[in-house]
Amino acid sequence: MKIIAGNWKMNGSRDTLQNMALALKDVKTDNKVILCVPYTMLCVNAINFSLGAQDVSTHDKGAYTGEVSASMIAETGAKYVIVGHSERRQYHEETNSIVRQKASNALNAGLIPIICVGETMEEKQAGKTMAVIESGVRESVPNDAGKVIVAYEPRWAIGAGLTPTETEILGAHKLIADTLSSMGLSGTPILYGASVKASNAADIMSIQFVDGVLVGGASLKSDDFIPIITSVK
Ligand code: PEP
Repeated sequence: MKIIAGNWKMNGSRDTLQNMALALKDVKTDNKVILCVPYTMLCVNAINFSLGAQDVSTHDKGAYTGEVSASMIAETGAKYVIVGHSERRQYHEETNSIVRQKASNALNAGLIPIICVGETMEEKQAGKTMAVIESGVRESVPNDAGKVIVAYEPRWAIGAGLTPTETEILGAHKLIADTLSSMGLSGTPILYGASVKASNAADIMSIQFVDGVLVGGASLKSDDFIPIITSVK
């Protein structure tokens, strides 16, 4: 069983999600399908897949206009929330410690956080990939974490049509698995994300330590997303 998670970012509408839900209803798969959508779409009836949000506040409640708390997300019926996505880190200057606070809040509300880590092109070129990944995991995943999912997303590859080599993906995922195990979190699912599509999904998910994928652009249309879901058993 693999985990196939979609990240719609700020795209789609309730109508497009209804249509996706209809298309997913007939898909025969043992894989776990999750769609992380804008807050306004979280109330759509999800059959055959689970819903997730894409961010959560560091606060529980109060005078934080525009923020949405973990318990508010949980109240919609959503089960997951992405934290520390590359775009949050880039455009909202989210640090590992902010991401860890968000992940803790999610866990306290009964949500499963999908915690993203990954290196920028600048960090890759400076030979810092492994250090960034390891500190990303150590500092973003709460120490007392319950059930979490970690996503390795090389930030230079997201939305760029670029993919690391198989050896690079294996190395990153093994490091994440070892780091999680040293934190007492062995068995935590580790997803790969960045430019996953139907043509590369099965190959990527056949790499050791890759428990599934986090899919951006190719999760928006059922014609692109369903072949990814059915590409592996
Ligand atoms: C993402 O934004 O999490 C992502 C993986 O995007 P894409 O698949 O479009 O590269």
